[in-house]
Amino acid sequence: MASPVGRRLRDGPPVVVILVGPPGVGKGTQGGLLAEATGSRHIATGDLLRAAMRDGIDLGREAQEFMSRGELVPDQLMVGLVRDVVEKMDRDVGAVLDGFPRTVGQAEALEGVLFELDRKADLVVVLEADDDVIVKRMAGRRSCGQCGAVYNVHCSRPKQDGICDQCGGVLTLRPDDDPVTVRNRIEVFRRETTPLIGYFDESPTPVHRVQADQSVADVQCALWEVVGG
Ligand SMILES: [Zn+2]
Repeated sequence: MASPVGRRLRDGPPVVVILVGPPGVGKGTQGGLLAEATGSRHIATGDLLRAAMRDGIDLGREAQEFMSRGELVPDQLMVGLVRDVVEKMDRDVGAVLDGFPRTVGQAEALEGVLFELDRKADLVVVLEADDDVIVKRMAGRRSCGQCGAVYNVHCSRPKQDGICDQCGGVLTLRPDDDPVTVRNRIEVFRRETTPLIGYFDESPTPVHRVQADQSVADVQCALWEVVGG
């Protein structure tokens, strides 16, 4: 998607942006759009983990062991994955971190890594939305069991109810998107990130809050105002 102004948002130095927000708030979508507009690398830790496991690199294998035991992937391992990416990036390329850091420990470790690489986090953006809005949005999601395409009965319906436009597969509500599960995931997120946001509020890195229970385009504009302004 092109930026609304039809050009790269920033001509200034590259920025490192940390995006924080509950599951289902649209962090992945907005992170991707923001990265594109700023010519930055979108670093989504979920994608990093999946790629590391798929490619069988050491950190990926280690992460897989924890996950197969149903345990959280330790901070140091996540930090290692992010470090690998940032280290290999050109100095004139910024980054949009999405899904990381999630804890104060990760934030401190990230600060150390960026410092070593002669970079720093330039701003933190907290995407906020009412729980009920997120739950409704997630409960409307329908995923294709065959190709993974995602639809939404509220805003992007398939041509035929329950059937994937792309491959004809059956669309279902994933257990992850079930309202009870979503409320739980939001609760876990708040428990984890309330101290994290407190930590950033006390830090010299500016923290901006963006209301994310609006349309994708409106959130995009609000975000760009904060980052580009
Ligand atoms: Zn499909």
